[in-house]
Amino acid sequence: MKNKTIYLKDYKVSSYFVESIDLTYELKKDYTLVTNESKFYKNINSKEDNILKLNWNNLDIIGIFLDWKKISIEIDSNIELIEDNTILFLNDLPDTFELKIVTKIYPHKNTSLEWLYVSNWIYCTQCEPEGFRNMTYYLDRPDVLSVYSTKIIADKQDNPVLLSNWNLIESWDLEDGKHYALWKDPFKKPSYLFALVAWKLDYIESSFTTFRWKEVTLRIFTEPHNINRCDFAMASLKRAMKWDEDRFWLEYDLDLFMIVAIDDFNSGAMENKWLNIFNSAVVFATPETATDKDYIYIERVIWHEYFHNWTWDRVTCRDWFQLSLKEWLTVFRDSEFSADMHSKSTKRIEDVRYLCNYQFREDASPMSHPIRPSFFEEISNFYTLTVYEKWAEVVRMYQTILWKSWFRKWMDLYFERHDWQAVTTEDFLNAMQDANNMNLSQFQTWYDQAWTPIVDVSSNFSAEKKIYTLTFKQSCPVRQWEKRKNPFIIPIKFWLIDSSGDEIKLENDIIILTKEEEKFEFNNIENEPVPSLLRDFSAPIILNYNYSFEKYSFLIENDSNEFNRFNAMQNFSTELLVNIVNSWVYELNDLFKNSFKSILIDDTIWNSFKAECITLPSETLIADKIWKNINPQKIFEARKYLITSLIEEFEVEFLKIYDNLKKKIDYKIDSEDIWNRKLKNVCLEYISFKNWPSNVYKAYLDSNNMTDSFSALSILSKIECKERDEVLDDFYNKWNFDPITIDKWFSVQATSPLENTLDNIKKLSKHKLFDITNPNKVRALFNSFSMLNPVIFNKPESYEFIADKVLELDKINPAIASRLVKNMINWKKLESNLWEKLRLQLLRISNEPWLSWIVLEVVKKSL
Ligand SMILES: [Zn+2]
Repeated sequence: MKNKTIYLKDYKVSSYFVESIDLTYELKKDYTLVTNESKFYKNINSKEDNILKLNWNNLDIIGIFLDWKKISIEIDSNIELIEDNTILFLNDLPDTFELKIVTKIYPHKNTSLEWLYVSNWIYCTQCEPEGFRNMTYYLDRPDVLSVYSTKIIADKQDNPVLLSNWNLIESWDLEDGKHYALWKDPFKKPSYLFALVAWKLDYIESSFTTFRWKEVTLRIFTEPHNINRCDFAMASLKRAMKWDEDRFWLEYDLDLFMIVAIDDFNSGAMENKWLNIFNSAVVFATPETATDKDYIYIERVIWHEYFHNWTWDRVTCRDWFQLSLKEWLTVFRDSEFSADMHSKSTKRIEDVRYLCNYQFREDASPMSHPIRPSFFEEISNFYTLTVYEKWAEVVRMYQTILWKSWFRKWMDLYFERHDWQAVTTEDFLNAMQDANNMNLSQFQTWYDQAWTPIVDVSSNFSAEKKIYTLTFKQSCPVRQWEKRKNPFIIPIKFWLIDSSGDEIKLENDIIILTKEEEKFEFNNIENEPVPSLLRDFSAPIILNYNYSFEKYSFLIENDSNEFNRFNAMQNFSTELLVNIVNSWVYELNDLFKNSFKSILIDDTIWNSFKAECITLPSETLIADKIWKNINPQKIFEARKYLITSLIEEFEVEFLKIYDNLKKKIDYKIDSEDIWNRKLKNVCLEYISFKNWPSNVYKAYLDSNNMTDSFSALSILSKIECKERDEVLDDFYNKWNFDPITIDKWFSVQATSPLENTLDNIKKLSKHKLFDITNPNKVRALFNSFSMLNPVIFNKPESYEFIADKVLELDKINPAIASRLVKNMINWKKLESNLWEKLRLQLLRISNEPWLSWIVLEVVKKSL
């Protein structure tokens, strides 16, 4: 098999730097002409000869001029093209020189949605991580920063708006109905932050006054018919700017901030400095079209991209191995902001649920990798939950150990040292140590070692000596490329609770593990306590302690830490479900029933927390707990049994809550109403198992917002009945004109556990509104199916169908194909007959001779 592994240890500084780069983009009907005029100078820290290595990919070259003299690949000996046609070598160069390169590119034919492409007639770019090299020969690496100027020339009628990063210097009309705009950087930037947009766009405008009284103009661009859907995004942006000032004293550094919303986008958004480009699905929001979840997600992505302005547009990463550096602090910051804006414990519960459902799964999969990988084939495969979410958890651990003010000290020192630099994780760690005057080097283990650490805890109580002992043993499976694993530094927030439910007085509420095995003794303990361990999920680990059902039930009643109370409920239901699957005995445990009821009827706990507690763990989470010989059908049946038993038992209680919350009909988007709707719809789902489908159908008809109607729609889509078809038709007729809202119609059908779901998906994939070149459509139909519908996805015919789609997508958009195939490789621990069927499909994909690198890397690892 092919191999093109790149190693972190092979990093070398560039032999040249770029003083300035002047780009001209002439947008023509069938192609775009790119002229790149760059001034190079020798890097005095490079030990290499005067050789320039320019990255390129698939380029149609018109001409190369070295100091105004044309040179050519055929006749000049100082130009060499080697290494799989990805590097252009220029030898024997002077210490300073100018290079002019003219290339022809074809954005209209580009379906990869990287570099320059056309989405619904709109020209736009996506250069991170390595898109720039598809437009021109360049030092396309994040540690080469330069000052850019970009001149865009286009037909004025077709493309009246011409945007790029930084300042608009001039714009002018030309002959033949053309016009141009010239944009110029005041500061240096790496090539991955380059952006260009052109088309007939409209915008909404607002402004923000910074704490130093600087006026910043804010604009959100989109096509004119969507312009009234951007107000929420604008308000979110202003909230983010304010919070970054209040919490971190970071002021926006330019006069203008622009967002452009695009329908075809591989991810959520891209933080190109000054000109953020967004997937329109994370910009457009009105109560009729967006659910509460959408609102919260939109807000979070807007904040995330805005926070990038400091972390890492100004401090960027030296090479792509350090990618997590660019993302972690931003994820951490947007998560902290969310917690400040809504509710700390709900936010924590949601984040941890996401981490355990998806990141832990990735860490146990063949694609498992450390947060700073030491090698890769395609960096695009490493935009993962490990890099984003696990890193953010590592930062949270620093904060837990150092407290908030120390964290601020680090941040101040970090920006003081590294503003406008390209840095490494070591720079980050050094600043953390120096700011806090502490040795934190053991944190390095988190950057370099893959897989979720496991901590086994045991306890011992000596009534005679009144000593209670907790023993912690940490372990972590060793991967093929690792010799051994070093112990992690792990903060465990905890408390001890005595038999009457009171907290025992302790000196410290945090234990910091640094060794493979450690014992901690607590004196003067009268009776054996119950430990409340890993409060607030203080470390991204799997913690095992032999809690009996009695102890879970005790913690659910008595733990004062909200997160742990929730977690006790989750672990209790997970264990119960695992027991049902393994023993095949359907039985509703009395202790569980009582604990569930105590939460359900407790009027003192708030609704969002209640909704989280009574939501059973997902099928994939149960599968991950079972760990081997997984049978998704059995898991599905067990979960269905438990829900049915609970509604049989507590129908009156569920209906009481539901009817009470149903009365509040005025629609508002504030935290309290969001929580009320959340609980109401969780109750409705339970009720649907007893009294379907009339209640759900009525809820759909009565709803005055997307949260409620979508919730009813997705519940009904799981039930075989005539109302199901009616509601799906109604939703379709209402929203078929809107490409974003109709994705909900695709996804609810893809996640239905009904027997005919695969046939339906096959039909939908040929529907006139389905378009495989649009990533949002692919995510709605194929990714929802393969991620969120384990019971139907885990069938031989489904594997074959998704494998077909991976191969089809690979020819259109390899990055999206790679994300889809990752959903297949996560299921390695299946019962052998299923795994064999899945393996055959993975093998079929890997045997495709023209398979892209990015898909091949994933499939190869799984085999
Ligand atoms: Zn980001």
